[in-house]
Amino acid sequence: MTQKQYSVEAIQHGTVIDHIPAGRGLAILRQFKLLHYGSAVTVGFNLPSKSHGSKDIIKISGVHLDEKAANRLALFAPEATVNVIEDFQVVQKMQLELPDTISEVLRCPNANCASRGEPVTSRFYVRRHQGQTKLKCHYCEKTFSRDAVTEA
Ligand SMILES: [Zn+2]
Repeated sequence: MTQKQYSVEAIQHGTVIDHIPAGRGLAILRQFKLLHYGSAVTVGFNLPSKSHGSKDIIKISGVHLDEKAANRLALFAPEATVNVIEDFQVVQKMQLELPDTISEVLRCPNANCASRGEPVTSRFYVRRHQGQTKLKCHYCEKTFSRDAVTEA
């Protein structure tokens, strides 16, 4: 019998987003409007992690993230794992895959880009290159590393 440790309260049904790099939890709550579901949300910050030193964790009761949301999550926390919980058990671990495109939430770093200062929605094409995530702006066609692109 292995001993399970619950560092934050277990949930009966819902979603657990685990292994979020420490410090990213709040941004993810905001970006994914996780508080807007009206469900109970339990958050743990700076929890000890076997693989990454420390991590954040988010548990949302009664909500299942769809594939699109899970894939968007891959842009913000590629190492995160999304567990689907039923009756206190993990019934599915969602595989995060980078989306092909991302709109709205990111802002083009190019000051001369047509998407800046215009009422248009930002749009980036996502690809992996030599182990790094790259984003190509639909408007100015410049390519940026993920780290260079900030949230709007
Ligand atoms: Zn641009």
